[in-house]
Amino acid sequence: MKFSQLQLTSPYLKLEPLSFDKVDPTPLDNPFLISVSPDAGMLLGIDESLWEDEKLVNILNGTDKLEGSDTFAMCYAGHQFGYFVPRLGDGRAINLGEVNGQNLQLKGSGLTLYSRQGDGRAVLRSSIREYLMSEAMHGLGIKTTRALALIGSDTDVAREQWEKGAIVLRLSPTWVRFGSFEFFNASRELKMLQELADYVIAESFPHLTDEENCYLKMYAEIVKNTAETIAGWLSVGFNHGVMNTDNMSIDGRTIDYGPFAFLDDYKAYYVCNHTDTDGRYSFTSQKGIGYWNLERLAVAMSPIMNHEAAVEVLDEVYYTAYDNEYFRRMTKRLGLYEVDEKDRHLIDSMLGRLENSSIDFNLFFRKLSRYDGDKSSILDIAVYRKPLESWLDDYDSRLKKETLSQEERHQKMLAVNPKYILKNHILQEAIDLAKADDFSMVNDLLKVALSPCEEHEDLEHLCKPTPQRAKNIKLSCSS
Ligand code: AMP
Ligand code: MG
Repeated sequence: MKFSQLQLTSPYLKLEPLSFDKVDPTPLDNPFLISVSPDAGMLLGIDESLWEDEKLVNILNGTDKLEGSDTFAMCYAGHQFGYFVPRLGDGRAINLGEVNGQNLQLKGSGLTLYSRQGDGRAVLRSSIREYLMSEAMHGLGIKTTRALALIGSDTDVAREQWEKGAIVLRLSPTWVRFGSFEFFNASRELKMLQELADYVIAESFPHLTDEENCYLKMYAEIVKNTAETIAGWLSVGFNHGVMNTDNMSIDGRTIDYGPFAFLDDYKAYYVCNHTDTDGRYSFTSQKGIGYWNLERLAVAMSPIMNHEAAVEVLDEVYYTAYDNEYFRRMTKRLGLYEVDEKDRHLIDSMLGRLENSSIDFNLFFRKLSRYDGDKSSILDIAVYRKPLESWLDDYDSRLKKETLSQEERHQKMLAVNPKYILKNHILQEAIDLAKADDFSMVNDLLKVALSPCEEHEDLEHLCKPTPQRAKNIKLSCSS
């Protein structure tokens, strides 16, 4: 199957017209293909080369259409930095339709009814970041929207400076957000709210279709999914940066990559988003913000489900799901396979020690994956050795309870502790080259993003340490 042979349908358009804006993409000038992800293509059943599909660029650019494609932008609301905005919507994203359980969406394809003061565009810099990070999140085993292809163009787009416009073709089983429910609740369109809930059940939770209390049960699943995804982020050192409720997907996957960052040296309250002056979306705050956002969703869904029961569900499910998933991922990262509740304390104390040692979070785990009792192999990458030294004593004693051999433990740890992390400094290098029309690094990064724990001997330069000046920097939201 070729990409350009796909046939799409648009079940979302069966909802009331207030839910969407039927709009065509506005093409960019002189579009050209920068990168494709065959791995994402497999989700659509594409087995022919995406590079050789001559229609791919035009479909991304909106000058060709896939069969059955009826393009539209979605309407939603959202709490942005704690404040409610009653109407947002896809200001620069245009949906193409659905196939194989995946909804295809262009990002950066021009104005829609919801563009407000924006230009409907996405610049090359932010598109490269979103394209690569979508695939990297999948490579890390964390639920996310995917990216199939990226095009560049000659179209000038105004940001702090003039930049070039680009478009990413994104895939997701759903593009409905918490803010979609907030829109209908705030507009008091309660029949439409229920229709949306039924749509979401059909799209993302079909096993609940004929269940009693299906909306409450759906809410419970959203709580669990969201908690697990955020636990995934904290376990790999990922800071999303803009956890507004319009950026929270209804099936709990990572969505809308903006000024995100991975931790360099471990810093619990690191804030990647330059405009987040209060640190609302700091690294460690993400756990509590997930809960807060789910509270907003419970309010938005309250016309169709018992609110008190929903709050109880939230309390029962959220922290348990979060803690279990975090513990599961972190014990694997540490190579601890025998069940021991005391490991929760070992993990907590590790985080404090990492912060006091000024040590790169992910590099620490990669080094630990070859740890043989020689502490200097770890301590040599820390600025301050003392805090971590005594923690390593505790770790040594804990390892004695394990039954696996050291060699087996190392193999298992190397398979879960990534060598390649899309840190901002490395993404920036790829962006600088791309601005000079060299896209080789974008394509190399795609390879390591999809299999970050493998060695990739020819691509070692992509995991070089972060230069001091680039450590834990903040990023501008403009994209
Ligand atoms: P974000 O924080 O990127 O998720 O964006 C928040 C809202 O602003 C969403 O409704 C976006 O669609 C919209 N938006 C962001 N950038 C633009 C742009 N350049 N043009 C139009 N709308 C935009
Ligand atoms: Mg968004």
